[in-house]
Amino acid sequence: MTAPLDLASYAFDGTTSWQSKPDVVVFPTTAEQVSQIMKLATAQKIPVTPRGAGSNLSGGSVPVSAGIVLCMTRMNKILKIDADSFTVTTEVGVVLNDLNLELTKQNLFFPPDPQSFLAATIGGCVSENAGGPYAVKYGVFKHYLLGLTAVLPNGAIVKLGGNTVKNVTGYDLPQILCGSEGTLAVITQVTLRLLPLPPSHRTVVAVFDKVVTSGQAVHKVLTAGILPAKIEMMDNWVIRRIEETTPLGLPLDAGSMLLFELDGTQSAVDKDVESVIKSCQQAGAINVRAAKDAGEAANFWTARRAGFSAIYGASPNIFAEDVTVPISHIADLIDKVQQIAKKYDLTIVIIGHAGDGNLHPSVLTDKKNAEHYARAEKAVDEIFLAALEYGGAISGEHGIGLEKKRFMKQAMQPEAIDLLRGIKKVFDPDNILNPGKIWEEKS
Ligand SMILES: Cc1cc2nc3c(=O)[nH]c(=O)nc-3n(C[C@H](O)[C@H](O)[C@H](O)COP(=O)(O)OP(=O)(O)OC[C@H]3O[C@@H](n4cnc5c(N)ncnc54)[C@H](O)[C@@H]3O)c2cc1C
Repeated sequence: MTAPLDLASYAFDGTTSWQSKPDVVVFPTTAEQVSQIMKLATAQKIPVTPRGAGSNLSGGSVPVSAGIVLCMTRMNKILKIDADSFTVTTEVGVVLNDLNLELTKQNLFFPPDPQSFLAATIGGCVSENAGGPYAVKYGVFKHYLLGLTAVLPNGAIVKLGGNTVKNVTGYDLPQILCGSEGTLAVITQVTLRLLPLPPSHRTVVAVFDKVVTSGQAVHKVLTAGILPAKIEMMDNWVIRRIEETTPLGLPLDAGSMLLFELDGTQSAVDKDVESVIKSCQQAGAINVRAAKDAGEAANFWTARRAGFSAIYGASPNIFAEDVTVPISHIADLIDKVQQIAKKYDLTIVIIGHAGDGNLHPSVLTDKKNAEHYARAEKAVDEIFLAALEYGGAISGEHGIGLEKKRFMKQAMQPEAIDLLRGIKKVFDPDNILNPGKIWEEKS
């Protein structure tokens, strides 16, 4: 039996809005054990919520229907790094940072970099189709997923996809599982594509008086034909809060700050650094320069990584949203978020992967103050609607989970939602896996 106190640790994920204790937590170490658990759960109609590190930001791993939490963290072996074929095959409980440390030893590079990489597991990242700063140039998890092994709710162990970059053998089943948030199958092993490590990197920091101006600068850089590896944005509130919690020497008077990373050969990187500086100056930067050395660059990136923790520590409840818009609308979205903050008299701070149009406007609130919380919810609704109006999406990387499911009807056509339901029925006819997520039950 799992002790009651231990169960409480599995009632949460990275959000502040949801909690629900499971009845039991199971830590399988093989696909066969997962299969046995799934057979039992299906026979007894017990809900099963797969879980990695529990760091997701959408309620995905919260076991809202209780039952079994299937915690995959003990399936933590890297099975094969194939430097000749640029692939790695790994169990899903491996922490992303541990994988990266091993790959770096062989001069290999796995770009998707959710900023929770010190904790997030490969299984959680595949299931959320996670991304991070490197998405601007290198894409997200789905772009690296070649094949996987998964256990279906009926206990069948299936191998899907393969080891090659190109593979058009029927429907792309690994991609259907990628981003499925633990609702279709339990993934036990994956094969991922790798790249060679870029030989050189440099960081540029640009300071702006207004967040909107920094949004315009992102567009200017990208349309000047430069493709930075990363473009990250932090507003003044986030900068000051990071400095309060982890002093790193950030410019406290900056209205907004952009961090760029350029990578490639030394000469190409040097040229790109000059071009980024020029574009930012033309876009109205009040200060823009390259980081002095690798140490200073690392400091800036540590600061960016501290951003979410700084936000989460600032208020009892946070709606850390995850909207994405086409890059031409990034400044419009920022402007709209600021108008919404004013309209509802709320603190809404902005941090995000600005280079791919994915912002995390974060609304600070407190559930215990019902009136404030209601205003915060209305503001979130308007942020989602704004993203959709600009041709964007309600989630760029955190998934729908519980947090955004009431928006699915606005974000997708009814026929498309029916297709999702149909896929769910094929994989999980008894609705055993992670029930209550992604869409509202039909009324
Ligand atoms: C400080 C902070 C920063 C973050 N930054 C980013 C970021 O930059 N980019 C980003 O994309 N995300 C980010 N996240 C969100 C989160 O870390 C990612 O969603 C990550 O992929 C979750 O991994 P996990 O191991 O914690 O999975 P969990 O949270 O445990 O699970 C995530 C989902 O996957 C399912 N699942 C887990 N393992 C399996 C499996 N083996 N088989 C089937 N389903 C499974 C769960 O049921 C759940 O629905 C951040 C979170 C925090 C707290």
